[in-house]
Amino acid sequence: MNIQPNDILEKGFFDTEIDPHLDLFAEIARLKKEKNAILLAHYYQEPDIQDVADYIGDSLGLAQQASKTDADIIVFAGVHFMAETAKILNPGKKVLLPDLKAGCSLADSAPAPLFKAFKDKHPDHIVISYINCTADIKALSDIICTSSNAEKIIESVPKDQPIIFAPDKNLGAYLNKKSGRNMLLWNGACMVHEIFSLEKITKLKIRHPKAKLISHPECEEPILRVSDYIGSTTQLLKYTEVSDATEFIVATETGILHQMQQNSPHKTFIPAPPTNSCACNDCPHMKLNTLEKLYLCMEYEVPEITMDENLRLAAKKPMDRMMEISRAAGLIG
Ligand code: SF4
Repeated sequence: MNIQPNDILEKGFFDTEIDPHLDLFAEIARLKKEKNAILLAHYYQEPDIQDVADYIGDSLGLAQQASKTDADIIVFAGVHFMAETAKILNPGKKVLLPDLKAGCSLADSAPAPLFKAFKDKHPDHIVISYINCTADIKALSDIICTSSNAEKIIESVPKDQPIIFAPDKNLGAYLNKKSGRNMLLWNGACMVHEIFSLEKITKLKIRHPKAKLISHPECEEPILRVSDYIGSTTQLLKYTEVSDATEFIVATETGILHQMQQNSPHKTFIPAPPTNSCACNDCPHMKLNTLEKLYLCMEYEVPEITMDENLRLAAKKPMDRMMEISRAAGLIG
């Protein structure tokens, strides 16, 4: 089929009819085998996508899987910056994203020209950027980090070296507190993690006195202050498995509840309530991917992530530095 770039650009995916009798789970399994494709899915994807994935993880785990796969095609069920990260690490492979419009409010909060001007004003600072940023911001950074390895990455930098931390101001403030540093913070945030209501969480805790409040460090400080445990998505998942508690209020994107419930079927997981009545702790970007779009992208091999080679090389350097430090700290194998 001759698919024109405009067919993709307008909608973000190739929108064509799917035979309603098709078993999409079986079709996706067939396509993976036939095309030697690996399907990597973020914990925030809808349960159906998590169930057909070869690997489910958070940013660090997914980046690591992307760097060691020998598949010909990487299908990335996540958001755009994650698929870009897979492409940075795998220039020779075809990287597909089910919906090109699956962006990220946090990555969008750091436009490269503005960030470059900010960086130029502080020439003595090095830049540590959270992996939730565009390839352009990665290329302007010295080291990348994820919420799993950020503390170790910061520890690896000499104490007297000034640091700019981007793009998440909440994670940056949390890390400043943990590390005793005074990193200069870029004023970005994730729309999902900023929406939790302290008042509603407090009432929920009264109704569930034995429940542990567990939060992602992208949440705002008042939520983190009352949390029983703070960690990356993977750390939160592990905590629910090993903790003696049987009830948890989970302050992060709701997609992770699927794995939590699967791994601990006898425990109860309550999504932390947002400030309004909408399901705002569902990431609208992550949830743009559907099983149907996943099937279409694997069948027709579009949309594909492409990248200028100079940009890719510049963005890879701080990613490599992150991997080296993570390996030396024993965080990855
Ligand atoms: S949950 Fe937040 S940081 Fe993650 S993809 Fe959605 S908007 Fe971006």
